[in-house]
Amino acid sequence: MADGVTASDVQTVCTPEDLRATVGSWKAAGLRVGFVPTMGALHDGHLSLVRRARELSDRVVASVFVNPTQFGPGEDFDSYPRSPERDAEMLAEAGCRLLFLPQVETIYPPGGSTFVEVEGPSRDFEGAERPEHFRGVATVVLKLLQLAQPDLAVFGEKDAQQLAVVRRMVCDLHLPVEIIGAPIVREGDGLAMSSRNVYLSAEERRAATVLHRSLEAVRREVDAGQRSAFALSQLVLTVLESEPLGRVDYVAVVDQEGFRPIETLADRSVIAIAVRFGSTRLLDNLHIELG
Ligand code: AMP
Repeated sequence: MADGVTASDVQTVCTPEDLRATVGSWKAAGLRVGFVPTMGALHDGHLSLVRRARELSDRVVASVFVNPTQFGPGEDFDSYPRSPERDAEMLAEAGCRLLFLPQVETIYPPGGSTFVEVEGPSRDFEGAERPEHFRGVATVVLKLLQLAQPDLAVFGEKDAQQLAVVRRMVCDLHLPVEIIGAPIVREGDGLAMSSRNVYLSAEERRAATVLHRSLEAVRREVDAGQRSAFALSQLVLTVLESEPLGRVDYVAVVDQEGFRPIETLADRSVIAIAVRFGSTRLLDNLHIELG
């Protein structure tokens, strides 16, 4: 922790009233408010979003909420890593001033029956693998945006399909918030940081670098002029399948906005992959901007 920074530099609030009171006072003072929603167990990827929000706003609020509605039956909701005190310290160090730490029943009042379905970008890939996942994500993001009322919110490109879903929802519902995408932060060996990396055994952890290696191979091919989605996904598969511990769920070549499969790279495309190592599913992707 940096000199002089303690977790107490972050004000922690648990209720909508307290959240609104602090954000409201900032806005009344003419300050621009940035928001970073997370599920906690923070790492440097999350903190990069806080730093980006700081660059773009005067005050940053983050939320830590393990959202039950985006987990399917048999998924890791109960065992998802939780470290609220460490999270508060890390947020303070990154310059976040307010932490919203709600209870499940605060976000989902008893008897609640309102959910958000974003069609289009939710349909394939993560949406197909995890039915209800994006319904849970869209619902909680809308609720959190309603509660925090930020001027901007920062999301990681790490979850590229989630970012597309959130952008679609914000546009469709005319929400008065700017959505900012921030690049993937990686470990030294290229593995994308994720709260779920702790689930990997030492052997799986070593093998998991194959995701990044496959995307680096794609980057080289694109730089050399390759534009065929089929050729690029075959290349990814060849690299991924060279690692016997991994089991490929999908390789997607899609447009960034709609998250629909494309045959030829568009101006703004994503190559997104999901690979299982034992019971742990890892996601990674490469954002490609042409021209
Ligand atoms: P999570 O806590 O996993 O729900 O993630 C909260 C936010 O952090 C989401 O916008 C993620 O996309 C983002 N995020 C997670 N991992 C990374 C990473 N390695 N680099 C950048 N952003 C990330």
